[in-house]
Amino acid sequence: MPLTNVQTRDVEALLHPYTPLHKLRETGPLVLDHGEGVFVYDTQGKRYIEGMSGLWCAGLGFGDKELIEAAREQLDRLPYYHLFGGKSIEPAIELAEKLKEIAPFEASKVFFTSSGSEANDTQVKLAWYYNNARGRPEKKKIISRQKAYHGVTIVSASLTGLPNNHRDFDLPVDRILHTDCPHYYRFGEPGETEEEFTARTVRSLKELIAREGPETIAAFIAEPIMGAGGVIVPPAGYFEAVQAVLAEHDILFIADEVITGFGRTGNWWGSETFGIAPDTVSVAKQLTSAYAPLGAVMISEELYQAFVEESAKIGVFGHGFTYGGHPLGCALGVKAIEIYQSRDILSRVRALAPQFQERLERLRDHPLVGEVRFKGLVGGVELVADKTTKRPFAANHGVGGICAKHLENHGAILRAIGDTIALCPPMIITSDELSQLFDSLEKALDDTE
Ligand code: PLP
Repeated sequence: MPLTNVQTRDVEALLHPYTPLHKLRETGPLVLDHGEGVFVYDTQGKRYIEGMSGLWCAGLGFGDKELIEAAREQLDRLPYYHLFGGKSIEPAIELAEKLKEIAPFEASKVFFTSSGSEANDTQVKLAWYYNNARGRPEKKKIISRQKAYHGVTIVSASLTGLPNNHRDFDLPVDRILHTDCPHYYRFGEPGETEEEFTARTVRSLKELIAREGPETIAAFIAEPIMGAGGVIVPPAGYFEAVQAVLAEHDILFIADEVITGFGRTGNWWGSETFGIAPDTVSVAKQLTSAYAPLGAVMISEELYQAFVEESAKIGVFGHGFTYGGHPLGCALGVKAIEIYQSRDILSRVRALAPQFQERLERLRDHPLVGEVRFKGLVGGVELVADKTTKRPFAANHGVGGICAKHLENHGAILRAIGDTIALCPPMIITSDELSQLFDSLEKALDDTE
């Protein structure tokens, strides 16, 4: 099909993120124009049910009038100010207070960023700063995991454990290590039980720490559920065992709740769902339901005190972003949390989760489906070339992308992560809309055969 005018303008002007650039020039992008509830509409007026909340972020859907009003009011009052050098704004204070109230650990202070990548970048800098403040300059390495996704800045992309984020970008940088991915279906050995697999995975972490020297390891970072690695839900007992290892060696646990925060798994935090007691937490995305860019890092009193001492020594805490704590983002964050509470979004996720699970489990019988994974309202469907042997499709087959394209034809948007189709619908979705989304997915899978 020839490109439309707007598609031609797009390929002439934009360098797209996360896109097979060589193909886009032929296919052109899907150009979205407006949205309402769980639906978005393209420039031709075609409607799609948006089953990914954009990029796991627009949890309250599109066109929420309360959020839009909160944004308008804040722009009228004060469109920009910052938190540098002793300045402040009330929306940032209020949002920090709210985050402290709901945090999955005893959070003492909140540091604002503009994105999840900046939040995780900040986490690494803070872990280094903390250990310098505590007189442990050797304790600097950060352990992440294969298939983790923590962002795309130089350090957060290094934390990310996906080859395409490293290859030819000359990453990862030094002092970032990767341990095993806790995905039983993919990495469990023949005859190995899930418990044995978990024990082996944790043993491998232990061995890595011993090899590197525990005195050189500052922190371990993990998403409670790996999102962009393919919606990988950890086995029962995994995080408990990991935390026991970290506690032995005074290694901080950084929880990356950028996807799993704010009700996605049926609790406020993935940390609650999976029994994680973090030392520090990164958030973004559903923090504002994605109506404006904003991220944050929540830290303990122990870390904060170390930063106060270090800043007294150096003269300043030399870290901060122009848009970190932007008034628009903060006003939207305050309103989003109020809505999660007033509309009882957590109960809504819990009420819809059984239907979500049942429709995913039904897909198990499909000849293309190797595994389905889920928690709350986030899920993944892994497509395989051979169900019995779990043999994946050839790397250049692009089965996920083919299925995602068929989904668009059936009026739905989901995300192909390699061969896994990810689902992360807005948490305001109704039962009927959820059925509609799965009906489209079933048709798209049939077309993909
Ligand atoms: N951490 C996780 C778990 C994510 O899923 C993402 C983005 O998908 C990030 C960090 C990076 O966030 P951003 O794209 O806002 O920089």
